[in-house]
Amino acid sequence: MKRLIYFTYVSNNVEMVTEFTMADQEEDSMSEEKKTAIVSCSGASNTGTTADRVARKLCIDQPEKNDLLCLAAFAIKKAPSIKKLQEADKIVVIEGCPSRCASEILRQGGFSSNLVVEMVADYGIKKVMTPECEEKEMERISKDVEEKVKRLG
Ligand code: SF4
Repeated sequence: MKRLIYFTYVSNNVEMVTEFTMADQEEDSMSEEKKTAIVSCSGASNTGTTADRVARKLCIDQPEKNDLLCLAAFAIKKAPSIKKLQEADKIVVIEGCPSRCASEILRQGGFSSNLVVEMVADYGIKKVMTPECEEKEMERISKDVEEKVKRLG
């Protein structure tokens, strides 16, 4: 059982204190569901841009399931990014090309992923050094990644 105490403030003085207990079951139902951490390379090429767009789409479409990681913040060891990975149900990495920079950054930080997809090998996109993304390709890849994540269970 957990004790909950609510305070109501009026002009910085505590006006009312309400205290009650909550059964563990109720407490559990209030706790946040664990999410899938989505990590993307966000490179300067078309494949990096596509990887980034896919990651953002997954998180925008299903914010209750997916959480986007700030990879650059993680690389400089920012606590919120580390915490996000530690608390994630699964870690999915979306790479722009075979260099797999995001996976390497995670590895250096002591994390591994449950799923890695890569734009060149897995989706046949030819890498060019322009930061562009074809919408149709992005939609196709987003759907496929979503299916792959579902199959992880
Ligand atoms: S994985 Fe490829 S596209 Fe992504 S940041 Fe690294 S070199 Fe750039």
